[in-house]
Amino acid sequence: MTTEDRLSLIKQWPKAELHLHIEGTLEPSMLLALADKHSVQLPYQTLAEVEAAYHFEDLQSFLDLYYLGAGVLRDEHDFYELMLAYLEQCRREHIVHAEIMFDPQTHLSRGIGFDVFMPGFLAAIKKAETEWQQSTRLLMCFLRDQSEASALETLKLAEPYLEHIEAVGLDSAEVGHPPGKFKRAFEAAAKLGLRRIAHAGEEGGPDYISEALNELGVSRIDHGVQCVRDSALKAQLAESRAGVVPGQVDERRAAPVRQDGVEERCDSLSGRVLSGKRCR
Ligand SMILES: [Zn+2]
Repeated sequence: MTTEDRLSLIKQWPKAELHLHIEGTLEPSMLLALADKHSVQLPYQTLAEVEAAYHFEDLQSFLDLYYLGAGVLRDEHDFYELMLAYLEQCRREHIVHAEIMFDPQTHLSRGIGFDVFMPGFLAAIKKAETEWQQSTRLLMCFLRDQSEASALETLKLAEPYLEHIEAVGLDSAEVGHPPGKFKRAFEAAAKLGLRRIAHAGEEGGPDYISEALNELGVSRIDHGVQCVRDSALKAQLAESRAGVVPGQVDERRAAPVRQDGVEERCDSLSGRVLSGKRCR
């Protein structure tokens, strides 16, 4: 079978997207259109310049671009368009289930509240569910380079929308912001009935993964590739059946994970959702 045949076959298969940051899906053309709509000055003038910038090399260059892009999302319709564009992409690629992370603090810090971005997100999700039976889950992430007090405040502000939120997570710049910093915020989220996940072991070490499991009680680790450096941790991941979800940028680092067979034990949260066994 040729590579082309394989790609064609994969395109036809129903798929699940497990690790996706909605703010990171902003396409260059939409970035330029929204910047123009809201008179936001960008360091790029043309589509080609924006597209060139999208070839990021590491987490920090991705984050720089991510925050620049988030700055053009201002009103409810912007968030609707952003979500709908992604869900339409899912439809084209036959992604039948998508677990979508969003970062409230990125917007709250710009004076844009839950009452702006959530109705936009939810209207697009409703349209996709109704028109092509798209399955989605929203995962609300705390920015780990902000304080726990800010995470707790975000959780409070999210309360009117909890029925639409599946889990809380941790994302953004990892090193220097270990999971234990958010122990109380995750305990509060658990009390509200939310599931818990966290980015850990992407650029931080295996100790970040252990801390997320032991102190935050997460059932899924995003990225997690650094677990290959700690045999006891690998055993704990297998024993706890916590999901490990490497992201696209982990591709270059994923080989050791496969060699160690860890991915075979990745019974992800989403896998269970898809099989119809919701395990809140
Ligand atoms: Zn991520």
